[in-house]
Amino acid sequence: MSLLQIRDLKVHFPVSRGGLFRSEKRLVRAVDGVDLEVFPGETLGLVGESGCGKSTLARAIVQLIEPTAGEIFIEGRPLAGISPSKLKTERKQFQMVFQNPFSSLNPRLTVADIIAEPLKALTNMNKKQRWNRVQELMELMNLNPKFLLRYPHEFSGGQRQRINIARALAVSPKLVVLDEPVSALDVSIQAQIINLLQDLQKKMNLAYLFIAHDLSVVKTLSHRVAVMYLGKVVEVAKTENLYHSPQHPYTKALLSAVPIPDPKKERERRRIPLSGEIPSPIDLPKGCSFHPRCPVAEGICRRDPPVLEEKVGGQQASCHLVPQDLTVETGRGG
Ligand code: SF4
Repeated sequence: MSLLQIRDLKVHFPVSRGGLFRSEKRLVRAVDGVDLEVFPGETLGLVGESGCGKSTLARAIVQLIEPTAGEIFIEGRPLAGISPSKLKTERKQFQMVFQNPFSSLNPRLTVADIIAEPLKALTNMNKKQRWNRVQELMELMNLNPKFLLRYPHEFSGGQRQRINIARALAVSPKLVVLDEPVSALDVSIQAQIINLLQDLQKKMNLAYLFIAHDLSVVKTLSHRVAVMYLGKVVEVAKTENLYHSPQHPYTKALLSAVPIPDPKKERERRRIPLSGEIPSPIDLPKGCSFHPRCPVAEGICRRDPPVLEEKVGGQQASCHLVPQDLTVETGRGG
């Protein structure tokens, strides 16, 4: 059974036009009908250009933003419409690590207080129990428990991100949503944090939804990868399949821009240029939203929106021109 299931999730923000049209309300379709699953112990990478809706999706999953429509299930239990006390119980199952290790920690709190925040909010632990748990987490993060009474500014960027991870793991969640957790860090520190995340996943059977724009980082950590474009998932596949034989033209273009460490292969790499700007999520193109930039678009693409479905090769993609796998009945899995 999936740990997290998202069905047709939408997050739309109303905005008003300026000037004479101020009263006219329009919608930013930040997330526009996303279906995804995350299984226990796996990492699902979520990639896409900035502004594609991945961070909004993450915030909707952890209930920091109320979805406009759609459903979120944790171990089959719906999150919508449940009582605040039940939501408090469910919140222990999913936690989030934010991108910026500098701004995501309250500078006025000690590290002990920061890590204890979710324990205070979501458990009945007394002070002594919280203190013991915080010490345990410091050791798990390879941080010296003697530093518990220090403040965030006394730590390096990598250490702060370890504190963020400790806070997320305090209540022993099953799913951690990681929103660009290493993009603000130096490359050598990035590798340390990725190794730490991999070790923690093995020890605690954690599932990650790992959001990043760096496709090399996503490849290292993810079992499956979902690609987002303008609020929609356009391809989902096992990592090796996606990187070796991408199906969707947008995935192909993204991957063609990733440098290859082998100098010979790097010289031979053919980049697929994407023409034009990303369309506005307020005014999405008719048909396939990728058609104004797609190098292989045809007439049908400007007319009918494609659906995410199982294609030949086993991955899911939403593209009229990728042949469908007619041997399967559903578009789920991957
Ligand atoms: Fe390109 Fe058409 Fe496929 Fe969209 S449906 S990705 S425009 S080929």
